[in-house]
Amino acid sequence: MAKLLFGACANESADVGLIRKTGIDWVRQDLAMPFADRVGGRLTDEYLRNRALVQSWIGQGLKVMGVTPRPFGGSYEPDEQGVLRLRVKRCLPEWCGAPGSEAYNRSYEEICAWLAQDLKGLISTWQIANELDIELFAGPLTARQACEFIAHGARGLKRTDASSVVGHNPAGCGPHSDYFYGWFYGGRGALLDYCGVDGYYGTWIDGGPESWDRRLAELRELTGVPILVNEWGFSSEGAQLAPGELPADRTPCQVRKWPSTWGPGHTPEGQAAFVRECFDVFLKHRRSLLGVFFYRWEDQQNCWQCGRADCPMETRWGLVDLDGKPKPAWTAYKEGLAAMKAAEEAASTKGLSQGK
Ligand SMILES: [Zn+2]
Repeated sequence: MAKLLFGACANESADVGLIRKTGIDWVRQDLAMPFADRVGGRLTDEYLRNRALVQSWIGQGLKVMGVTPRPFGGSYEPDEQGVLRLRVKRCLPEWCGAPGSEAYNRSYEEICAWLAQDLKGLISTWQIANELDIELFAGPLTARQACEFIAHGARGLKRTDASSVVGHNPAGCGPHSDYFYGWFYGGRGALLDYCGVDGYYGTWIDGGPESWDRRLAELRELTGVPILVNEWGFSSEGAQLAPGELPADRTPCQVRKWPSTWGPGHTPEGQAAFVRECFDVFLKHRRSLLGVFFYRWEDQQNCWQCGRADCPMETRWGLVDLDGKPKPAWTAYKEGLAAMKAAEEAASTKGLSQGK
Protein backbone atom coordinates (compact mmCIF):
# COMPACT_ATOMS: atom_id res chain seq x y z
CA MET A 1 0.00 0.00 0.00
CA ALA A 2 1.32 3.42 -0.98
CA LYS A 3 2.13 5.75 1.90
CA LEU A 4 -0.37 8.47 2.58
CA LEU A 5 0.71 12.06 1.92
CA PHE A 6 0.57 14.20 5.05
CA GLY A 7 1.18 17.83 4.19
CA ALA A 8 0.54 21.49 4.94
CA CYS A 9 0.86 24.94 3.41
CA ALA A 10 3.74 26.81 5.01
CA ASN A 11 5.66 30.07 4.66
CA GLU A 12 9.30 30.12 3.65
CA SER A 13 10.19 31.18 7.21
CA ALA A 14 8.56 28.09 8.78
CA ASP A 15 10.50 26.01 11.31
CA VAL A 16 11.03 22.86 9.24
CA GLY A 17 12.34 20.97 12.26
CA LEU A 18 9.03 21.58 14.05
CA ILE A 19 7.02 20.72 10.90
CA ARG A 20 8.78 17.37 10.69
CA LYS A 21 8.42 16.80 14.44
CA THR A 22 4.65 17.10 13.90
CA GLY A 23 4.83 14.20 11.45
CA ILE A 24 4.22 16.36 8.39
CA ASP A 25 6.32 15.14 5.42
CA TRP A 26 4.96 17.30 2.60
CA VAL A 27 4.46 20.96 1.80
CA ARG A 28 2.31 22.43 -0.94
CA GLN A 29 4.17 25.02 -2.99
CA ASP A 30 2.61 27.52 -5.40
CA LEU A 31 4.50 28.07 -8.65
CA ALA A 32 4.23 31.39 -10.44
CA MET A 33 3.99 31.79 -14.20
CA PRO A 34 7.54 30.84 -15.26
CA PHE A 35 7.83 32.81 -18.51
CA ALA A 36 7.99 36.60 -18.88
CA ASP A 37 7.48 37.08 -22.61
CA ARG A 38 6.80 33.77 -24.39
CA VAL A 39 6.67 30.03 -23.65
CA GLY A 40 10.30 28.94 -23.42
CA GLY A 41 11.50 32.56 -23.01
CA ARG A 42 13.01 34.49 -20.12
CA LEU A 43 12.14 33.14 -16.66
CA THR A 44 10.30 35.35 -14.17
CA ASP A 45 11.97 36.28 -10.89
CA GLU A 46 8.95 34.98 -8.99
CA TYR A 47 9.25 31.54 -10.55
CA LEU A 48 13.00 31.44 -9.86
CA ARG A 49 12.26 32.25 -6.20
CA ASN A 50 9.61 29.49 -6.09
CA ARG A 51 12.05 26.98 -7.59
CA ALA A 52 14.76 27.89 -5.09
CA LEU A 53 12.24 27.40 -2.28
CA VAL A 54 11.24 23.97 -3.64
CA GLN A 55 14.92 22.99 -3.59
CA SER A 56 15.24 24.35 -0.05
CA TRP A 57 12.21 22.36 1.23
CA ILE A 58 13.58 19.19 -0.32
CA GLY A 59 17.07 19.89 1.02
CA GLN A 60 15.53 20.05 4.50
CA GLY A 61 13.92 16.63 4.12
CA LEU A 62 10.37 17.54 3.01
CA LYS A 63 8.57 16.43 -0.14
CA VAL A 64 6.80 18.99 -2.30
CA MET A 65 3.43 18.99 -4.05
CA GLY A 66 3.60 21.63 -6.78
CA VAL A 67 0.70 23.93 -7.64
CA THR A 68 0.73 24.91 -11.32
CA PRO A 69 0.26 28.65 -12.07
CA ARG A 70 -3.13 30.12 -11.32
CA PRO A 71 -5.11 31.71 -14.14
CA PHE A 72 -6.65 34.36 -11.86
CA GLY A 73 -6.37 35.58 -8.29
CA GLY A 74 -8.82 37.69 -6.34
CA SER A 75 -8.87 39.97 -3.33
CA TYR A 76 -11.28 42.49 -1.83
CA GLU A 77 -10.93 46.27 -1.94
CA PRO A 78 -13.30 48.88 -0.49
CA ASP A 79 -15.36 51.02 -2.89
CA GLU A 80 -16.22 54.68 -2.13
CA GLN A 81 -18.88 53.58 0.36
CA GLY A 82 -16.44 51.24 2.10
CA VAL A 83 -18.14 48.13 0.71
CA LEU A 84 -15.56 45.44 -0.05
CA ARG A 85 -15.70 44.47 -3.72
CA LEU A 86 -14.03 41.48 -5.33
CA ARG A 87 -11.21 42.40 -7.70
CA VAL A 88 -9.97 39.49 -9.77
CA LYS A 89 -6.63 39.90 -11.51
CA ARG A 90 -5.33 37.96 -14.45
CA CYS A 91 -2.21 35.93 -13.53
CA LEU A 92 -1.31 34.55 -16.98
CA PRO A 93 0.02 37.29 -19.31
CA GLU A 94 -1.98 38.68 -22.25
CA TRP A 95 0.25 36.86 -24.73
CA CYS A 96 -1.19 33.53 -23.48
CA GLY A 97 -4.43 34.44 -25.29
CA ALA A 98 -8.02 35.15 -24.30
CA PRO A 99 -9.19 33.21 -21.23
CA GLY A 100 -11.21 30.18 -22.30
CA SER A 101 -9.81 30.17 -25.85
CA GLU A 102 -8.03 27.25 -27.47
CA ALA A 103 -4.80 29.31 -27.69
CA TYR A 104 -4.97 30.08 -23.97
CA ASN A 105 -5.45 26.41 -23.06
CA ARG A 106 -2.66 25.34 -25.41
CA SER A 107 -0.30 27.88 -23.81
CA TYR A 108 -1.14 26.44 -20.41
CA GLU A 109 -0.49 22.90 -21.60
CA GLU A 110 2.97 23.94 -22.85
CA ILE A 111 3.72 25.79 -19.62
CA CYS A 112 2.78 22.72 -17.55
CA ALA A 113 4.82 20.38 -19.81
CA TRP A 114 7.82 22.67 -19.30
CA LEU A 115 7.30 22.87 -15.52
CA ALA A 116 7.26 19.08 -15.19
CA GLN A 117 10.55 18.99 -17.12
CA ASP A 118 12.19 21.83 -15.20
CA LEU A 119 11.22 20.32 -11.83
CA LYS A 120 11.85 16.69 -12.74
CA GLY A 121 13.32 14.85 -9.79
CA LEU A 122 11.94 17.53 -7.44
CA ILE A 123 8.17 17.43 -7.98
CA SER A 124 6.07 14.51 -9.22
CA THR A 125 2.79 15.22 -7.39
CA TRP A 126 0.74 18.14 -8.65
CA GLN A 127 -2.30 20.23 -7.92
CA ILE A 128 -3.41 21.96 -11.11
CA ALA A 129 -4.21 25.62 -10.32
CA ASN A 130 -6.49 26.19 -7.33
CA GLU A 131 -10.23 26.10 -6.56
CA LEU A 132 -11.41 26.88 -10.07
CA ASP A 133 -15.04 26.34 -9.04
CA ILE A 134 -15.16 29.77 -7.37
CA GLU A 135 -14.87 33.25 -8.91
CA LEU A 136 -12.11 34.28 -6.49
CA PHE A 137 -9.74 31.97 -8.40
CA ALA A 138 -11.55 31.27 -11.69
CA GLY A 139 -12.27 34.90 -12.61
CA PRO A 140 -14.37 34.92 -15.79
CA LEU A 141 -13.80 31.23 -16.62
CA THR A 142 -17.05 29.26 -16.60
CA ALA A 143 -17.06 25.85 -14.89
CA ARG A 144 -16.77 24.15 -18.28
CA GLN A 145 -13.90 26.41 -19.37
CA ALA A 146 -12.16 25.82 -16.04
CA CYS A 147 -12.40 22.03 -16.49
CA GLU A 148 -10.94 22.30 -20.00
CA PHE A 149 -8.13 24.48 -18.63
CA ILE A 150 -7.35 21.88 -15.93
CA ALA A 151 -7.45 19.07 -18.53
CA HIS A 152 -4.86 20.89 -20.65
CA GLY A 153 -2.65 21.35 -17.58
CA ALA A 154 -2.93 17.63 -16.81
CA ARG A 155 -2.04 16.66 -20.38
CA GLY A 156 1.01 18.92 -20.28
CA LEU A 157 2.31 17.46 -17.02
CA LYS A 158 1.64 13.89 -18.18
CA ARG A 159 3.31 14.45 -21.54
CA THR A 160 6.59 15.15 -19.77
CA ASP A 161 6.18 12.75 -16.88
CA ALA A 162 3.61 10.01 -17.45
CA SER A 163 4.13 8.72 -13.90
CA SER A 164 3.31 12.07 -12.25
CA VAL A 165 0.30 12.23 -9.94
CA VAL A 166 -2.09 15.02 -10.90
CA GLY A 167 -5.43 16.40 -9.74
CA HIS A 168 -7.43 19.51 -8.90
CA ASN A 169 -9.06 20.85 -5.73
CA PRO A 170 -12.56 22.32 -6.06
CA ALA A 171 -13.36 24.63 -3.12
CA GLY A 172 -16.68 22.89 -2.69
CA CYS A 173 -18.43 25.97 -1.28
CA GLY A 174 -20.17 27.06 -4.50
CA PRO A 175 -22.67 25.34 -6.76
CA HIS A 176 -20.11 23.97 -9.22
CA SER A 177 -17.81 21.50 -7.47
CA ASP A 178 -19.89 18.42 -8.30
CA TYR A 179 -19.92 19.56 -11.95
CA PHE A 180 -16.10 19.27 -11.83
CA TYR A 181 -16.28 15.73 -10.43
CA GLY A 182 -18.81 14.74 -13.08
CA TRP A 183 -16.69 16.29 -15.83
CA PHE A 184 -13.48 14.52 -14.82
CA TYR A 185 -14.68 11.20 -13.48
CA GLY A 186 -17.83 10.67 -15.52
CA GLY A 187 -16.27 8.73 -18.39
CA ARG A 188 -13.36 10.83 -19.68
CA GLY A 189 -10.77 8.25 -18.68
CA ALA A 190 -7.85 8.64 -16.34
CA LEU A 191 -7.02 12.29 -16.98
CA LEU A 192 -6.66 13.01 -13.27
CA ASP A 193 -5.11 10.52 -10.83
CA TYR A 194 -6.82 11.70 -7.69
CA CYS A 195 -10.01 13.41 -6.59
CA GLY A 196 -8.97 16.62 -4.88
CA VAL A 197 -11.20 18.41 -2.40
CA ASP A 198 -10.98 21.47 -0.16
CA GLY A 199 -13.38 21.86 2.74
CA TYR A 200 -13.99 24.50 5.36
CA TYR A 201 -16.83 23.08 7.42
CA GLY A 202 -17.70 25.15 10.47
CA THR A 203 -16.05 28.29 9.07
CA TRP A 204 -16.87 29.30 5.47
CA ILE A 205 -19.68 26.74 5.25
CA ASP A 206 -21.89 24.90 7.73
CA GLY A 207 -20.94 21.51 9.07
CA GLY A 208 -18.18 19.87 11.04
CA PRO A 209 -16.05 16.72 11.08
CA GLU A 210 -19.18 14.66 10.37
CA SER A 211 -19.49 16.56 7.07
CA TRP A 212 -16.04 15.26 6.09
CA ASP A 213 -17.30 11.76 6.87
CA ARG A 214 -20.22 12.19 4.47
CA ARG A 215 -18.22 13.99 1.80
CA LEU A 216 -15.37 11.45 1.66
CA ALA A 217 -17.81 8.54 1.33
CA GLU A 218 -19.72 10.41 -1.36
CA LEU A 219 -16.62 11.39 -3.37
CA ARG A 220 -15.20 7.88 -3.27
CA GLU A 221 -18.50 6.58 -4.63
CA LEU A 222 -18.78 9.33 -7.26
CA THR A 223 -15.21 9.24 -8.56
CA GLY A 224 -13.73 5.81 -7.77
CA VAL A 225 -10.21 7.25 -7.41
CA PRO A 226 -8.12 8.03 -4.30
CA ILE A 227 -9.08 11.29 -2.59
CA LEU A 228 -6.59 13.99 -1.72
CA VAL A 229 -7.85 16.48 0.85
CA ASN A 230 -5.85 19.40 -0.53
CA GLU A 231 -7.08 21.81 2.15
CA TRP A 232 -8.82 21.41 5.47
CA GLY A 233 -8.69 23.31 8.72
CA PHE A 234 -10.49 25.44 11.27
CA SER A 235 -9.77 29.00 12.34
CA SER A 236 -9.02 29.57 16.02
CA GLU A 237 -10.54 33.08 16.13
CA GLY A 238 -13.64 35.00 15.08
CA ALA A 239 -17.28 35.46 16.06
CA GLN A 240 -20.18 34.08 14.05
CA LEU A 241 -22.42 36.22 11.86
CA ALA A 242 -25.91 36.80 13.22
CA PRO A 243 -28.77 35.89 10.83
CA GLY A 244 -29.25 38.74 8.34
CA GLU A 245 -26.19 40.63 9.58
CA LEU A 246 -24.49 40.54 6.18
CA PRO A 247 -26.17 40.80 2.76
CA ALA A 248 -25.59 37.64 0.68
CA ASP A 249 -23.46 39.45 -1.90
CA ARG A 250 -20.91 40.72 0.64
CA THR A 251 -17.76 39.00 1.81
CA PRO A 252 -17.45 37.99 5.49
CA CYS A 253 -14.28 40.15 5.53
CA GLN A 254 -16.71 43.12 5.52
CA VAL A 255 -17.66 42.50 9.16
CA ARG A 256 -14.88 40.02 9.98
CA LYS A 257 -17.22 37.30 11.23
CA TRP A 258 -17.68 33.68 10.20
CA PRO A 259 -20.67 32.40 8.25
CA SER A 260 -20.52 29.29 10.45
CA THR A 261 -19.13 27.76 13.60
CA TRP A 262 -18.76 24.36 15.15
CA GLY A 263 -18.54 22.72 18.59
CA PRO A 264 -16.58 24.83 21.08
CA GLY A 265 -16.37 27.64 18.50
CA HIS A 266 -13.53 29.58 16.95
CA THR A 267 -11.06 29.41 19.79
CA PRO A 268 -7.69 27.66 20.11
CA GLU A 269 -9.45 24.86 22.00
CA GLY A 270 -12.22 24.67 19.39
CA GLN A 271 -9.62 24.36 16.67
CA ALA A 272 -7.89 21.53 18.57
CA ALA A 273 -11.19 19.68 19.04
CA PHE A 274 -12.00 20.07 15.34
CA VAL A 275 -8.59 18.68 14.34
CA ARG A 276 -8.96 15.74 16.74
CA GLU A 277 -12.40 14.76 15.44
CA CYS A 278 -11.41 15.16 11.80
CA PHE A 279 -8.51 12.76 12.27
CA ASP A 280 -10.99 10.18 13.58
CA VAL A 281 -12.85 10.61 10.27
CA PHE A 282 -9.69 10.46 8.15
CA LEU A 283 -8.60 7.32 10.00
CA LYS A 284 -11.94 5.71 9.20
CA HIS A 285 -11.59 6.60 5.50
CA ARG A 286 -7.83 6.08 5.18
CA ARG A 287 -8.18 3.37 2.52
CA SER A 288 -9.98 5.88 0.28
CA LEU A 289 -7.34 8.57 0.72
CA LEU A 290 -4.22 9.62 -1.14
CA GLY A 291 -3.45 12.04 1.68
CA VAL A 292 -4.44 15.14 3.64
CA PHE A 293 -2.92 18.63 3.52
CA PHE A 294 -3.67 21.02 6.37
CA TYR A 295 -4.46 24.69 5.88
CA ARG A 296 -2.23 25.85 7.31
CA TRP A 297 1.03 25.57 9.25
CA GLU A 298 1.23 29.07 10.74
CA ASP A 299 -0.98 32.04 11.62
CA GLN A 300 -0.71 35.03 9.29
CA GLN A 301 -0.12 38.70 10.04
CA ASN A 302 -2.71 39.98 7.54
CA CYS A 303 -5.81 38.55 5.87
CA TRP A 304 -4.80 37.93 2.24
CA GLN A 305 -8.37 38.52 1.08
CA CYS A 306 -8.89 42.02 2.55
CA GLY A 307 -5.42 43.00 3.80
CA ARG A 308 -6.44 43.74 7.40
CA ALA A 309 -4.54 42.47 10.42
CA ASP A 310 -7.71 42.40 12.57
CA CYS A 311 -9.62 40.11 10.18
CA PRO A 312 -9.76 36.50 11.36
CA MET A 313 -10.84 35.17 7.95
CA GLU A 314 -7.30 34.37 6.80
CA THR A 315 -5.11 34.97 9.84
CA ARG A 316 -5.75 32.30 12.48
CA TRP A 317 -5.69 28.96 10.68
CA GLY A 318 -2.23 27.99 11.93
CA LEU A 319 -1.08 25.06 14.01
CA VAL A 320 1.51 27.51 15.34
CA ASP A 321 0.96 31.18 16.21
CA LEU A 322 2.63 34.29 14.80
CA ASP A 323 5.68 33.65 16.99
CA GLY A 324 5.93 30.07 15.74
CA LYS A 325 4.70 28.67 19.07
CA PRO A 326 2.47 25.56 18.92
CA LYS A 327 -1.25 26.16 19.55
CA PRO A 328 -3.43 23.45 21.18
CA ALA A 329 -4.28 22.20 17.67
CA TRP A 330 -0.60 21.38 17.09
CA THR A 331 -0.73 18.66 19.75
CA ALA A 332 -4.07 17.36 18.42
CA TYR A 333 -2.58 17.29 14.94
CA LYS A 334 0.59 15.47 16.01
CA GLU A 335 -1.47 12.83 17.84
CA GLY A 336 -3.97 12.43 14.99
CA LEU A 337 -1.19 12.02 12.46
CA ALA A 338 0.61 9.51 14.67
CA ALA A 339 -2.58 7.41 14.86
CA MET A 340 -2.92 7.50 11.06
CA LYS A 341 0.70 6.45 10.59
CA ALA A 342 0.38 3.66 13.18
CA ALA A 343 -2.70 2.32 11.35
CA GLU A 344 -0.80 2.43 8.06
CA GLU A 345 2.17 0.67 9.61
CA ALA A 346 -0.04 -2.04 11.11
CA ALA A 347 -1.80 -2.56 7.76
CA SER A 348 1.48 -2.86 5.87
CA THR A 349 2.95 -5.30 8.42
CA LYS A 350 -0.19 -7.39 8.19
CA GLY A 351 -0.01 -7.26 4.38
CA LEU A 352 3.62 -8.40 4.43
CA SER A 353 2.97 -11.32 6.77
CA GLN A 354 -0.06 -12.41 4.70
CA GLY A 355 2.07 -12.23 1.57
CA LYS A 356 4.55 -14.78 2.87
ZN1 LIG B 1 -10.30 39.59 5.58
